Amino acid sequence: MSFVDRKPWVVTQEDVKKSWNSVPNGKAFKCSLCNHRFIVGDTARWECTNDVPGAGGNPLICFDCDRPKEEIVQKMIELNKIVRVVEKFNKTRHLGDLSCLIIKEK
Ligand SMILES: [Zn+2]
Repeated sequence: MSFVDRKPWVVTQEDVKKSWNSVPNGKAFKCSLCNHRFIVGDTARWECTNDVPGAGGNPLICFDCDRPKEEIVQKMIELNKIVRVVEKFNKTRHLGDLSCLIIKEK
């Protein structure tokens, strides 16, 4: 189980208790796409994205969110754009900084 082999594995008691991203007790052991916190018996997979600019590093993916790498990379790029917008807003508190997140409908 690693982001190099990208193979799914069945989550163990040890997985849900250990540190992920330096956060102890499995509190950060979540799917990067839907935020599901993994429990024992779930299927998890690590995708390797740190070779793709803007995609962030190696998301954990749950069974329900699993899809081809290109689609995961696209979602990660979109999510990382939102993160940057929200970080800017947190600094400025200017509502206008959030306007690019509004989906324009006709
Ligand atoms: Zn998920």
